[in-house]
Amino acid sequence: AMTAEPLLAAQGLTRRFGGLTAANDISLSVEKGRILGLIGPNGAGKSTVFDLLTGVTVPDAGRVLLAGQDITDSKQTAIARAGLARTFQHTRLRGDMTLLENVAIGAHARGGCGALASIFRRDRAEEARIFATARAQLQRLGLEARAEVLAGQLSQGERRTAEIARALASDPTVLLLDEPAAGLRHAEKQHLASLLHQLRAEGLAILIIEHDMRFLLDLVDRVVVLNFGQQIAEGTPDEVRANPAVQSAYLGE
Ligand code: ADP
Ligand code: MG
Repeated sequence: AMTAEPLLAAQGLTRRFGGLTAANDISLSVEKGRILGLIGPNGAGKSTVFDLLTGVTVPDAGRVLLAGQDITDSKQTAIARAGLARTFQHTRLRGDMTLLENVAIGAHARGGCGALASIFRRDRAEEARIFATARAQLQRLGLEARAEVLAGQLSQGERRTAEIARALASDPTVLLLDEPAAGLRHAEKQHLASLLHQLRAEGLAILIIEHDMRFLLDLVDRVVVLNFGQQIAEGTPDEVRANPAVQSAYLGE
């Protein structure tokens, strides 16, 4: 098989918080049209790795490459503009804005409601484009009927989907999802899985953190396993399932 150049690659990422090494020498890569899972018990360092990949936190050591370009020291907004979008473990929707407006923030992709408002004051064509993009994402994710509802009134499942819609509205090449299935019902998880398969087929590179092991291992092409900040395994779902170090990390939880 042809080995594609990874769209996202991290090498030796390390981050300390005081005396705690939250991420120690983590390396991973995701190719176009592939899904990589990132798993590990609570506190393993998974969200910290996402923060390092997206410029929320600066690493003490290591590098991050996006489509071959070094983004290690880039700002969050520059990284988003370069094609890397993410969702957060605790959803970050503005409860006082409508679902559509929240997704429009993603379509704007420069981040921040202030920036969005200033665009609208001076560019009606750009405003129309942003809202059309946001509506298209809501339609694709089956949330168009909820477009005018305040985000604070959405259900947990709708909020998770809305975060994904907002990330997709920036037209990313790489999508990072932090526990997107948390709090979802079984049917909602099935929906999410088919959406992610579709996005993979469209060529997105996807990195997903998920607590539900069965859900994750059925979904992904490869898995990286963290425990106490260490990378303890990497491989296919079958390899990881059979790995004794992984089994003992989960049994010890
Ligand atoms: P996970 O997402 O795998 O549950 P996290 O990456 O959130 O784990 O956290 C890994 C470890 O780093 C935890 O012990 C957590 O308390 C710590 N940690 C994460 N972020 C910070 C921070 N900003 N300041 C101090 N400690 C942090
Ligand atoms: Mg986390």
